[in-house]
Amino acid sequence: MNRFVNAKRIVIKIGTTTLTHGGGLLNYRRMEHLIKTIADLKNSGKEIVLVSSGAIGVGMGELGLKVRPSDVPTRQACAAVGQCELMYTYDKMFGEYNHPVAQILLTRDVVEQQERKQNVINTFERLLEFGVIPIVNENDAVSTEEIFGDNDTLSAIVATLINADLLILLSDIDGLYTANPKEDPTAELIPVVEDIASVRHLAGGSSSSFGTGGMVTKLNAAEIACSVGIDMAILNGASPELMYDLFDGKEIGTYFVGRK
Ligand code: GLU
Repeated sequence: MNRFVNAKRIVIKIGTTTLTHGGGLLNYRRMEHLIKTIADLKNSGKEIVLVSSGAIGVGMGELGLKVRPSDVPTRQACAAVGQCELMYTYDKMFGEYNHPVAQILLTRDVVEQQERKQNVINTFERLLEFGVIPIVNENDAVSTEEIFGDNDTLSAIVATLINADLLILLSDIDGLYTANPKEDPTAELIPVVEDIASVRHLAGGSSSSFGTGGMVTKLNAAEIACSVGIDMAILNGASPELMYDLFDGKEIGTYFVGRK
């Protein structure tokens, strides 16, 4: 049995590739599956905060852009359009299971200034008391500095803000491998990581950044979470029901053990 079975307060990060088809249009079938699972976990007594990517990708799909824009204002315009579509869809789908959602868009200054940080912590706490599912993203439409830069890092910061028990990164890969599983048939999934430094080399250069899962940012997220005692798991977002297995104590994905 893994140590996550009793985790109550959970941050779940969902990546763009999990939410969308290749062209940036929403993958409704995947989202329905995902949202039903999350709604059910919430009904079982878990407190859930989602960190959802997808604003820029979905905005590109809506605006008919095939290539990720290289300039910041166009990416911000995409994010503004896509964030709206994302929240509309989350609200509608979670609404089917009677779960209210809330949008929280963060910028780095919020977590760097003590007063603003405390304000957002208070908001999270009150939303969770109300039984709401907060859905977080970076405020891409106003941030010019790629603030947190990636949502793996953002999700770890959110986990520390709310004192989560567990951070789940839903990725497009099953977990951390000993080599790139798409290129090396002998690659093996690493089930548990206790010492992040010892696996850093596996996410080294871009050629060994497995899949689009971006293991470097995932290990950075693990470092942030585990250093304050929060456990982390990487699971494949294509199969959201794996989260049931996780809480049933099955060994799936890669677990990073928080340093208590
Ligand atoms: N905030 C970005 C978006 O919503 C995603 C960043 C990331 O996936 O790491 O498009």
